[in-house]
Order: sequence, then C-alpha cells, then structure tokens
Amino acid sequence: MNAQDYIALEAKFGAKNYKPLDVVLERGEGIWVWDVEGRRYLDFLSAYSAVNQGHAHPVILKAMIDQASRLPLTSRAFRNNQYPLMAQELCELTGYDKMLPMNSGAEAVETAIKAARKWGYKVKGVAEGAAEIIVCDGNFSGRTTTIISFSPEPQYKDGFGPFTPGFVTVPFGDAEAFGAAITPNTVAFLVEPIQGEGGVIVPELGYLKRVRELCDQHNVLLIADEVQSGLGRTGKLFAAQHEGVRADIVTIGKALSGGFYPVSAMLADEAVMGVFKPGDHGSTFGGNPLAAAVARAALKVLVEENMIENAQEQGEYLMGRLRRIESPHVKEVRGRGLLIGVELHAEAGGARRFCEALKEEGLLCKETHDNVIRFAPPLTIQKPDIDWALERVEKVLMMP
Ligand SMILES: *Cc1c(COP(=O)(O)O)cnc(C)c1O
Repeated sequence: MNAQDYIALEAKFGAKNYKPLDVVLERGEGIWVWDVEGRRYLDFLSAYSAVNQGHAHPVILKAMIDQASRLPLTSRAFRNNQYPLMAQELCELTGYDKMLPMNSGAEAVETAIKAARKWGYKVKGVAEGAAEIIVCDGNFSGRTTTIISFSPEPQYKDGFGPFTPGFVTVPFGDAEAFGAAITPNTVAFLVEPIQGEGGVIVPELGYLKRVRELCDQHNVLLIADEVQSGLGRTGKLFAAQHEGVRADIVTIGKALSGGFYPVSAMLADEAVMGVFKPGDHGSTFGGNPLAAAVARAALKVLVEENMIENAQEQGEYLMGRLRRIESPHVKEVRGRGLLIGVELHAEAGGARRFCEALKEEGLLCKETHDNVIRFAPPLTIQKPDIDWALERVEKVLMMP
C-alpha cells in the first residue's frame, strides 16, 4: 500500500474530525520520522509536545516492553508495584505533596476542575452549586463537554451544547482584568502559562506573579495547565517557573509518557488533593502499571539527559535565528524554550501553505490558528539539526 491508499482508507472509514497533512508515517527515531515511501522528515511538532524525549526513546521503549510483558493493567481495584513509584518520583521532581493519575490531558484538567470546585465547597465555604472558575480568552484545555463549555473557539462548541455553567472568561495576560472578575464564589483561575493552541502566546513577564498575588489575596486556587508548556518544553520543568510562580494545581500530560502512551496527572498539595475521598473520582486506566512504568522512564530521561536545559539553549538559538529571517510574511516570532510561534501577516495567505511547503522540504510542522506556524521539535535536538531546519524554513518563508 502506498500513501494514497492509506489516505483513501482513512477517508472512507475514519471520522473526518481532523485534517492532517498528507504524510503517512511509519517509523520514528529521535527527532526524525519516516513515511511509508521511505522519505525522512525532521519532526518540528513532536505530537504537540508529547514527544519531548524524541521518538522511540530506547530507555522508555525498554521500560514499556518490560512492563507490557509482565503486567499492563490491574485497574485501581487492586494495587500494583509501579504506580506508587511513579507517584513518589513525580512528586519529588515537581515539589508537590500529591498526584492523581489520569490518561489524557483533558482528563487531568477535568480532575483539576473537580478538585477546585470541591475545595471551594468543602474548604473555602462557597454555597453548593455556586462555584465559579475564571478562565482566559484564547484558552485550550481539551475537548470534553465541560472543557469546551469555556472554549473561545466557536467551532469547538458548535452543535455540542448545552454547556457546563460556572466559568467566567477574562482576557489572557491582563492580571487586573482577572482581579476585577474575582467574586466571593471564585474558587480557581485556570490558565496556561503560555498559550499553545491559542497561537503560542507568551504573556508579559510579571503577569503570573501578579495573578499569584491576587489568588493569595482572595483565597482563589491557581491552576496552571501545563499539559503542553510543562515537562521542559519551555526550558524549565514548568513554564510558570520562568516567573518563579508555583501554582496550587498543575495539570500535565503529553510528554509525561514521551509519546508512548496516554498518561496525565494532576499535581497539588494535600490541602487541595485531600478533598478527594475513595470513590469520588477515578479512571480504569489511570495509574495503571504500564502507564506508570512508561512515565517513570519518560521523567527519568527528561532529567538525566538534560533535555530541559537543552530546550532552553537550543530554543534561544532557534528563536534568535528565526528573528533574523527577513521574510515579508513574518509579523512576529515569539515563544520560550522550544515552544515557538511564527505569526504571519494576514496577507501571507495562511500558515497552512507554508506547512505544506515545509513538508515538501522534509520538515514537519503544523499551523495553529490560521496565521501561526508552531515550531516545537523534540527537546533532544542539537544545533546542526536546527541549522538544517533553518535552511528549509528560510527558503519557505521567502516564497512569494
Ligand atoms: C493538548 C492540551 C490539552 C488536552 O490534552 P489531550 O491529551 O489532547 O486531552 C490540555 N491542555 C493543554 C494546554 C493542551 O495543550
């Protein structure tokens, strides 16, 4: 079968809820992937930052195979000998008392919403059913019915109502607008320290610090959705650490498994996590031994192979070089670490055509919104590979 055969099969039998680039991949190793025709591409998306550790990292692969051949799933009806170690290692790495394991990023965010609401009722003393969570314009936290209830994207909501109430939207990057929206019923502020799907939007330095102060002042939980920005992507373990800010709740996912398996988690101290009692919340697959073994290996290589520091160093280099490209199409280059957005002028004809052209040059990336190309290679990338990519990016951005 060739690429066109696979594309036709997918079109015939698969729901059309995505519009992927027409590249059919069959193998990956490190920063490279190969399509069914044997063409090699540099992965400049990393599965939306799920493959921070690079494709098929051998240490994670071994942990996965070992655990899969011993015991993949127990459910939480019984205990297993991997989840406790994952919990310990994740908490020690991140500095939180407790973690709650789930699978997808959206589930981690759902868990955070449930924790914040319950904390609001049981600890803060908000009247039952009155809890409000403040969110930001431009947010993306997943696709569940509750999460799309506060999505700013009309398409993500169209036809899917009725929606979950209890969310209030304020502009992203405006701490005073957040402060003004706080009421006695506000239990939490849910924010991405850097908006990924929103177009790689980096707020001004000082924003999160001010948000943290306001949360403390009003007894409001700060929830950092670090599903995309966390685990080294921006050059720190968490993007909020660029401002020295510690959230009350952190959601992580994506790179928590290095791309091998859906693994996510919510992190918090006991004062918040303690609201969950046996039976309150759960997941058949959350905390399963295979997921836990994979996550343990994924975190280990992230730290031991200095991927976070590398993201900082290579990110600075890549962004600096991108900013020097004198393309008539480029409006702004922004980002932090290896999460970089190249925003194009409205007249550039959309980011999609540049992504298509980059694919032809052997570089895979994806537009986010109509006018932003996101560059997010695995955190293992080295300078010569960035130079290789830049040659292609430069060429494509110079197209008429
Ligand atoms: C991708 C993403 C999610 C959702 O993760 P899924 O695994 O797709 O459910 C949530 N929050 C942010 C910030 C994300 O980028």
